[in-house]
Amino acid sequence: MFILRKTKLGLGVIIAGVIFSSVISADTIEMFSGSILHGKITNEQKQFIKFLPEGKDKPIDTETIYTFRIKRTIKGNAYKEYLEAKDKCKTADDFYKLGDKCKSQKLADEANLMWGEAVKLDPEHEKSRKALGHKKESDKWLTPDETKESEGYVKFKDQWVKKDQLEKVKADDLKKQYASAHPINLKIGIIVDVDEAWLEGYKERIKGFAKFLWTASDGMLYLNNIDVSDMTGGGDFVVVTIDQKYLPGKDSEAYLSCSGQVEMSGLCSAAVFVRQCGFLKINHQRHDGCLLAKDAGSYAKFCDACLSKVMAFSANVKYRPDFPAEPPEVNIKCTNNSPKK
Ligand SMILES: [Zn+2]
Repeated sequence: MFILRKTKLGLGVIIAGVIFSSVISADTIEMFSGSILHGKITNEQKQFIKFLPEGKDKPIDTETIYTFRIKRTIKGNAYKEYLEAKDKCKTADDFYKLGDKCKSQKLADEANLMWGEAVKLDPEHEKSRKALGHKKESDKWLTPDETKESEGYVKFKDQWVKKDQLEKVKADDLKKQYASAHPINLKIGIIVDVDEAWLEGYKERIKGFAKFLWTASDGMLYLNNIDVSDMTGGGDFVVVTIDQKYLPGKDSEAYLSCSGQVEMSGLCSAAVFVRQCGFLKINHQRHDGCLLAKDAGSYAKFCDACLSKVMAFSANVKYRPDFPAEPPEVNIKCTNNSPKK
């Protein structure tokens, strides 16, 4: 009898070993965009990782993922095991136990999800209720959120604030978000004489450029102080033509001259303007792949490689996946010079 047991045990170990080795050790990455990637991290750097997606095994299939896009990294099989176990759960107890396992593996979101499932199946599942931090008051279970709300708080970005403080907290938060972006100040010289009406129109264009820059850089760069004067060739940007889209003799709307000034058309598109800003103000390498891939009507984005250069450029800049939709207001100062008589 004893020998038989031992044999059984031995067989069990062998089977488990075979199953285990067939699961290739993998990692899971959750992106801020919400997508979940399975595969193997082959190289980890501060700014990026190299990642071999599941099902691929050749080095040529390796992808570069910029770390600022990554919400979390789960090393090993924990996440895949969770996905598999989840499909097998049937009862509230099953979900509760899986929630506990998730917690022990530092999968906090999944733990809450599983306890939530248990409560859906059995609203009186006390262990799950307690794990979720629910409290019973006069026969009704209250979530921590409901408890806070009943005390007069509202939630703002995972933070509880008193209702009458909400507007102030929101305004402070916006200020903080703007402070973690990089301001760009520019002097723009227009070489010819223009009138007030033209300058007013140009102001509107600059506001459009500001919105484009903000969106293209995921809220990390903004136009701050823009000084516009006519009848001068001085400035970071020089408007050399106001009546044609392309520079005279060139098939481009703007051009970074060897003297470090951007020559541009007064009609140049936002994408071109923003790209030139990048060249001039953040040492953005010449990369035509991102901004000009789309027409100027839509808000094209810097690619991840360019965005990581923006972050490397300024220590102040912070990537926020939920950056505010509107940039800080751009201050535009126009000086309308009169021609000499
Ligand atoms: Zn790019």
